Amino acid sequence: MNGKLIEAAIEARAKAHAPYSDFLVGCAVESEDGEIARGANMENGCYRLGVCAEQSALAAAQVAFGLGKVSRIVVVGGPRSARDGETGEAVMPCGGCRQAIQEAAGLSGRDIEVVCCDHSGGNAVTTTIGALLPAAFVFDKD
Ligand SMILES: [Zn+2]
Repeated sequence: MNGKLIEAAIEARAKAHAPYSDFLVGCAVESEDGEIARGANMENGCYRLGVCAEQSALAAAQVAFGLGKVSRIVVVGGPRSARDGETGEAVMPCGGCRQAIQEAAGLSGRDIEVVCCDHSGGNAVTTTIGALLPAAFVFDKD
């Protein structure tokens, strides 16, 4: 069930721009209709301007089908030196990305599934944004 989404995240990871950390991350975001948007981390010589794979993929999802339709997210990541066949630790979304995923969850009204994997899609940790970010900040205009 996650295979297609994991493959999409692995393909996205191959396009990461991470010359400074050499830590490549790919992300695939699936809509409730089965559409897939992808993203990869995009570092910058001015370090603080780097963009995580999750936020890169969410921006693509926003344009492709809208944040309110996001249903599942797969993240794969690991050092550039990691080889196929090797296993590593699952990469977890950073705090900022958890907040970005929460924004989509707030729009959809669902607890988005988040699958975190090593560089090759192994060692999957399946959780939800509600579990990753309890008591999330929510901006209430009213
Ligand atoms: Zn992040």
